[in-house]
Amino acid sequence: MSKEKRVLVAGGAGFLGSHLCDLLIREGYRVLCVDNYCTGTPRNVAHLTDHPRFELLQADITEPIDVEGPLDYVLNLASPASPPDYLRLPIETMRTGAWGTYHLLELARQKEAVFLLASTSEVYGDPTISPQPEDYWGNVNPIGPRSVYDEAKRFAEAMTMAYHRTYGLQTRIVRIFNAYGPRMRPNDGRAVPNFITQALRGEDLTVYGDGSQTRSLCYALDEVEGIYRLMLSDVTVPVNIGNPSTEITILRLAETIRRLTGSRSRIRFLPLPEDDPKQRRPDITRARALLGWEPKTDLETGLKHTIEYFRELIERGEV
Ligand code: UDP
Repeated sequence: MSKEKRVLVAGGAGFLGSHLCDLLIREGYRVLCVDNYCTGTPRNVAHLTDHPRFELLQADITEPIDVEGPLDYVLNLASPASPPDYLRLPIETMRTGAWGTYHLLELARQKEAVFLLASTSEVYGDPTISPQPEDYWGNVNPIGPRSVYDEAKRFAEAMTMAYHRTYGLQTRIVRIFNAYGPRMRPNDGRAVPNFITQALRGEDLTVYGDGSQTRSLCYALDEVEGIYRLMLSDVTVPVNIGNPSTEITILRLAETIRRLTGSRSRIRFLPLPEDDPKQRRPDITRARALLGWEPKTDLETGLKHTIEYFRELIERGEV
C-alpha cells in the first residue's frame, strides 16, 4: 500500500480533472481530489468516493493548502475554463491562475513532488500562424475580456518555470486545445455542450459570428492520456495536447451535431464575442516525439459519446 504513489489533482471534480482521476485510479495511484466546486461537481467523481485509494477534499486553492502525508505529484487542473464562466468570474479566474498556482507550487516544493500545470491554447490568443507550435509566443490582448483567463494562464506558466529555474522543482506544462466529452456542464456555454443541448431540445443552434472561425476538438480521454504521459515524462518545456486532424469551422460543427443528433433545429447567427480567436490548431510534433502520444478518437465518434451523455442527463431531468 505504502509503495503506491500519491497524486493531488486540483480541480479533480471538474470535467477533465475527473477523467484524470479515473485514469490515475485505474493505473494504481492514490488520488487526493481537491475542488471548491466552483465549476466542478462532486457528481463527476461520485463513482470513486468509496474507492480505497480515492480521497475527496473540498478546498479552494486560492487559500494556502496543507496536506498531510507524502505527495508524489501535484496536478493543477483547477480553473474556470469556458469563456462564459471566466467572463462571469473574472477575479476568481485570475486568483485561481495566480494565487492557486502559487500555493500548489509551494506545496509541491515542500513535498518534493512533481508539479504539472494545465495550461491552454489560449496562451496563443488569436494566433497569427497555424498550426500553433509551442515556441509561438502568441497574440493576446492583455486588457480584453478574455485576458483574465489568458494572462492568468500565462502568469501561471511563467511562475511554474520560475520555480523550476529557482528551486529545481520538477515541472510540467500542458497546453490543452479544446477538450470535449462527457462531464462537460450542459450549461457551461462552450460550443459543444451548447450545440448538443440545443439540438436535443429542438432549440436554435447559436453560432457566433459567421461560424468561419475554427477549433480543433480533442476528446477528453485522449486529452487525459496525453496529460498522464507528460506527468510521467521528464519534459519541462510546454507540450500541446490536442487533435490537429479535427480542425473544423464552428458552422460545420453545428451542422455535424445537428446531423448526429437527428435534430431539426435551425441555426441562428449571433454576434461574435470580443477577441474570439479566428483559428486554432495544435502542432503536436513535440507530443509525438517526446511522449509518443497522439489522439485516437475521431470527431464523430467523440461527439456521439458526448451526445449520449447529454441525452441521458436530459432524460433523467438533470438539466
Ligand atoms: N461558439 C458559438 N456558439 C456557442 C458557443 C460558442 O458559435 O453557443 C463559438 C465561439 O464564439 C468560438 C467557438 O465557438 O468561436 C468555440 O467556443 P468555445 O467557448 O467552445 O471555446 P473557446 O472559444 O475557448 O475555444
